[in-house]
Amino acid sequence: MDALFPTYAKWDIVVEIAEGSKIIDKSGKEYLDFVSGIAVCNLGHRNPVVQQAIQQQLDKFWHVSNLFHTELQQEVAGKLVENCDMDSVFFCNSGAEANEAALKLARKYTQKSKVITFKQSFHGRTFGTMAATGQDKIHSGFGPLLQEFVYLPYNDCEQLEKEMDDTVAAILVEVIQGEGGVIPASAEFLETIQNLCQKFGALFIIDEVQTGIGRTGKAFAYQHFNISPDIMTLAKGLGSGLPIGAMLGKEYLREAFGPGTHGSTFGGNLISLAAAKATLDIIFHDEFMLDVEEKGEYLSKKLNEILGDQSWMTEVRGKGLIQGIACQSEVVQAITAIRNNGLLVLPAGQNVIRLLPPLTVSYEEIDKAVNLIEETLVNVGIN
Ligand SMILES: *Cc1c(COP(=O)(O)O)cnc(C)c1O
Repeated sequence: MDALFPTYAKWDIVVEIAEGSKIIDKSGKEYLDFVSGIAVCNLGHRNPVVQQAIQQQLDKFWHVSNLFHTELQQEVAGKLVENCDMDSVFFCNSGAEANEAALKLARKYTQKSKVITFKQSFHGRTFGTMAATGQDKIHSGFGPLLQEFVYLPYNDCEQLEKEMDDTVAAILVEVIQGEGGVIPASAEFLETIQNLCQKFGALFIIDEVQTGIGRTGKAFAYQHFNISPDIMTLAKGLGSGLPIGAMLGKEYLREAFGPGTHGSTFGGNLISLAAAKATLDIIFHDEFMLDVEEKGEYLSKKLNEILGDQSWMTEVRGKGLIQGIACQSEVVQAITAIRNNGLLVLPAGQNVIRLLPPLTVSYEEIDKAVNLIEETLVNVGIN
């Protein structure tokens, strides 16, 4: 019966319908969704304003190819660069493609090929981005890998200073390692990367595929720091569930990506862009960002209150509405138990429970989620 490749360890849920922070399955069971399609549905499921924007574009045209000018591409690109210190945008369809474009641009611009990335990072599943990912389990069975990636320990300035030289084309880093365990970079680490890149003529690439589009309480997570990367990549939250990715770069990189150097048939698809425009119009406002930041602090405080004295809990960490509960042992069973109780959460690495509620989550829903976690885990533990 199952005609799909079994590439995913699927949950025991057949989805019937989703709205806001809720998913309802075939049997009528309701779940509170703190996964958001893995940081994709940042406005919850089927936000009505986004839905209307998609419907309006469906009535105009769906796809014409990148040989045409379209106002929508210019508008979304403009909206993105207005909200960060980048100048130019290349649209694609996914996070991996955005990072792939960044790696190609870094080679083309610097005429060098070595790229430094970090242990337990995640950058995608294509040959280039798989090689960029610092996890053996993602590489396993697919060698030989694309060459000249070096994986250094995350947040370790000393090692980085030792390894850095003028053969490096780029340093690629997540501001918060998402898949790797919700591990935030230190300010010192990000500033060291920027200084070393400037000193040795390398490009500073930030992977904001998971942390971008308001997730951390700023439009982009790097804006919590006093840094200005050369390239930034986006995808997940950009289209509220429609497939879209983007690679953004500084002005001086434009000529390395001239006509014919790179492209994508579906990149910048108009239906996805209609969703992106409506999404950014809602999210990129100071009040919206402040609300995300405050709800993140509230969630983190509540989690610390209920779990603070549990011996198996190490720490609650994250920023805004990406929060991780780091534990002493594996969390797979705990996550299943929480799900059976009606709350959807994710693992990050082996030992971290990751919470990615929609940015529109209410305080009541946060309280409900925290109660469900308490009911499931406190007094029972995580195994
Ligand atoms: C999800 C993710 C990717 C890969 O995105 P895809 O759309 O699955 O290709 C890359 N980098 C980070 C940080 C991610 O979280």
